[in-house]
Amino acid sequence: MSIMDKPNKHRAVCNFIGGRLAECMSGRSQEIYDPASGTRSGSVCLSSATDVDAAVAAAKTAFPAWADTPPIRRARLMNAFLGLVNSHKDDLARAITSEHGKVFSDARGEVDRGIDVIEFSCGIPQLLKGNFTDQVSTGMDNWTFRQPLGVVAGITPFNFPVMVPAWMYPIAIAAGNTFVLKPSPLDPSPSLMIADLLRQAGFPDGVFNVVQGDREAVDALIAHRDIQAISFVGSTPVANHIYETGARHGKRVQALGGAKNHLVAMPDADPEKVVDALIGAAFGSAGERCMAISVAILVGTAADAVMPLLAARARELKIGDGMDESSQMGPIVSEAARHRITGFIEKGVREGASLIVDGRGHIVKGREKGFFLGASLFDNVTPEMAIYKEEIFGPVLVCLRVPNLEEALRLINEHEFGNGASCFTQDGHTAREFGRLVQAGMVGINVPIPVPMAWHGFGGWKRSLFGDTFAYGEEGVRFYTKQKSIMQRWPDSIGNGAEFVLPVAR
Ligand code: NAD
Repeated sequence: MSIMDKPNKHRAVCNFIGGRLAECMSGRSQEIYDPASGTRSGSVCLSSATDVDAAVAAAKTAFPAWADTPPIRRARLMNAFLGLVNSHKDDLARAITSEHGKVFSDARGEVDRGIDVIEFSCGIPQLLKGNFTDQVSTGMDNWTFRQPLGVVAGITPFNFPVMVPAWMYPIAIAAGNTFVLKPSPLDPSPSLMIADLLRQAGFPDGVFNVVQGDREAVDALIAHRDIQAISFVGSTPVANHIYETGARHGKRVQALGGAKNHLVAMPDADPEKVVDALIGAAFGSAGERCMAISVAILVGTAADAVMPLLAARARELKIGDGMDESSQMGPIVSEAARHRITGFIEKGVREGASLIVDGRGHIVKGREKGFFLGASLFDNVTPEMAIYKEEIFGPVLVCLRVPNLEEALRLINEHEFGNGASCFTQDGHTAREFGRLVQAGMVGINVPIPVPMAWHGFGGWKRSLFGDTFAYGEEGVRFYTKQKSIMQRWPDSIGNGAEFVLPVAR
C-alpha cells in the first residue's frame, strides 16, 4: 500500500515507524467509513503495546542526532515541509472530507490553521534563544537556555485530523524532540500523508512516527518509560485519565478536553450579525468543533429579535456531501456519534426544552445511507438540563434567555467547561467587562470562534484543559523543552582554596 492510496474498501491504513510504513503486529483493526455515503472505505490497524514499543524505539534512536542538529537546520527542513504541505493542501483536505465528512472548504481551512503553526515553528532558532548575564560575580557568567525533552507523544481527536496534530509535532520536532503520533482511528489517513511529506522534506527516519490505534495503544504510550511528555486533545473524561495516568508515570502532560462554548448576544448587538455568527459557529463542521458555539445566551430583548431569524436560517441550511460545493454542513462522523446526538435531542425534549428546529431524520437525496443530521435548535433551555450541562458535539444549539450581562456571566462561570466564550455587543464597557470577568481561556468580542493565532497559544480553563500550558505558541515551546542554567568561570577567575559557601556575587 502506498501512503497516498485513494479510498477503497480494501485499503488498509497502517503505522509509520522509522521512516517507513509498518504493519501492526496486533492483528486487530477497525473499519473506516465515508460518512457521506455511509459506506466502508478501508480499515485501520489498531496497534498493540509491541507496536508502540517499536515506534518509541525508532524515535529514541533518532533523538540524539536530531537534538544535536543546529536549530537553524531543523528550521530549514520545517520550511521545506511547509512548502510541501502548501502544495498538497487540496489532497489533505480531500482526505479529511472523505473520512471526517466536513465540507471541503472547511477542510482546507483546517489545513491552513495547521500551516500557521508550521510557519511559527520555522522560527525555532529565535524561540529557543536563551538569556545571558555577564558578570554575575567577578569573572563569572550565567546563562539559561532550553533543550528538548526526548521522545514525546501526541494523542489526537477525530475532529481535526490535520490541524490538531499540527498544534504539536511542528514545535516538538523543531525544538529537537522526536515524536510519536496516535491519531483517531475514525480518520487516520491524513496522519500518514503528513508522515510522507515530512519524509520528503528530509526529516531523518524516526523523527516522526505514527501508531494507529485505540485505548490499547494510548495506554501503552502513557505508561512508556521512554516517553517524556504527552500532548492530548479529546474529550474531558479521557483527558482527565491521560493527565492523571501520565503524571503518575512521571510525564509532563498537557491534556485538552471538551467544551460547551457560550455566545452572549446583548440587546444592542445587531440581530442579523448575531444570527450569522451563531449559524456558522454552531452548525459549521456539524458542530463537531471544540470551539463550536453550542449555547446561545440571549440577553433581554435580544431573544425576541434573534430567535425567529435563527430558526429560519437553521431550517434553510444546505446539508449534503462535503465534496458538493453547495453544502454548508456535511454528515456526522459516524453512526455511533449520530446516535449519541439524537439521544441528546430526545433527552432535551423529555426535559421540557422547546425544540424549535428538529434535525432528526434528515435525509440527503442520493446519500440515503450517509450519517446525516439536520440542524437542531432548542429554546427555553435551563441550566439544570443535560442538553445544557453536557457536551453534545453535534449540530445542536441550545438557547437560554437571561435578563442581563451579570446573569450571562454567572452561567458561563459556573459551567464545568471553560474553553471559549464570545460576546456580541456594540458597547465598549460591556466588551471590556466580559473579557475581564469571563472564566474561559479564549474569548471573542464580536468573534464567535476565537481560535488564537499560532504565536498566541490555544487552551481552555476549568475542565477544558488539564495541565499548565496551552497548546502551541510560546507555551508550546516551553512544554516541549526544559530549561538549563549554566554558570561558568575560567581559571584566571578561580580563587585559591576550598569554598564552603554557595557562589555569591563578589
Ligand atoms: P476522544 O476523547 O474519544 O478521543 C481522543 C483520542 O483519545 C483518540 O485518539 C482516541 O483514540 C483516544 N481515546 C478514546 N477513548 C480513549 C480511552 N478510553 N482511553 C485512552 N484513549 C482513548 O475524542 P474524539 O471523539 O475523538 O474528539 C472529540 C472530543 O475532543 C470532544 O470532546 C471535543 O471537545 C474534544 N476536542 C477538544 C479540543 C480542545 O482543544 N480542547 C480540540 C478538539 C477536540
